[in-house]
Amino acid sequence: MALVSMKRLMNHAIANKYAVGYFEAWNMDSILAVVDAAEKTDSPVIIGFGGQFIGSKKRTVKENIYHYGSLGKSIAENTKVPVALLLNEAHEIPMLINGLKAGFNAIMYEDHSISLKEFIEINKYLVRTAHYCGADVEAEIGELPNADISTDSISQGKMTDPEEAAYFVEETGIDALAVAVGNVHLLENKKSDLDFDLIKALRKKVKVPLVLHGGTGISPENLKEAINLGMCKVNVGTVMKRAFLKSVQLYLKDHEVDRMDPHDIIGKGGELDMLSGAREAIAEEVVRFMKIFGCVNKAHLI
Ligand SMILES: [Zn+2]
Repeated sequence: MALVSMKRLMNHAIANKYAVGYFEAWNMDSILAVVDAAEKTDSPVIIGFGGQFIGSKKRTVKENIYHYGSLGKSIAENTKVPVALLLNEAHEIPMLINGLKAGFNAIMYEDHSISLKEFIEINKYLVRTAHYCGADVEAEIGELPNADISTDSISQGKMTDPEEAAYFVEETGIDALAVAVGNVHLLENKKSDLDFDLIKALRKKVKVPLVLHGGTGISPENLKEAINLGMCKVNVGTVMKRAFLKSVQLYLKDHEVDRMDPHDIIGKGGELDMLSGAREAIAEEVVRFMKIFGCVNKAHLI
């Protein structure tokens, strides 16, 4: 099936009371794992990459957004289920514009250091540009806290104010709004408490689809309730990297790799392939979330 718009996937999710997942990949194996899961379960899906990681100043090797866009677009176009391609949470506007040129059909800008006025102006520009290219724009009002597993701490965030959110959506014309309702980025070892009254208030005030980031750190029950109350897209990332790491860790513990043919470990795709095993481990986690989101067996209906 072809690349389809994120808006179309979200609207189908709203109409059929489920949520579509955005599963954030970082390379070819991880993005293919997401597609494996979607095809296996007949789920519509949003694939893509994190702009803040690809564009990070700390990278020792600079990345080219065109490589990621071309890869994602080609995968989306050659997959059995409907797929949208998101460049998520990029901190640089040129990267988002180049992302659109490279084939992403949804973009999201993130910068919590600027004023609301500036944030509105930037998003107005992005909406004009993206819509001209047939792409969608997501933005976040409020700020999700970040969990830090090394210190077991959570940073200060800011819950989304429904009035401010409605005003922002009206002013900018964005297509989807990410909200902070108790959800936390990067949270793994505990679960966040969601403010369901705030979700209800937001659903009433805000006219575009609502998005819940920080899916890894939310219990299945709370995810289901949030979706029930109108969240139609959920972002998941951390759990995929954890699944990859656990799988590789286990492999290295169980195998004497120095005595093995490296081609068996990497690249042949057989029983002994460590990266194939890790790809399957990621896909398993993605399937688990797809079942919670209720998007399984929905792809053929779109
Ligand atoms: Zn996020």
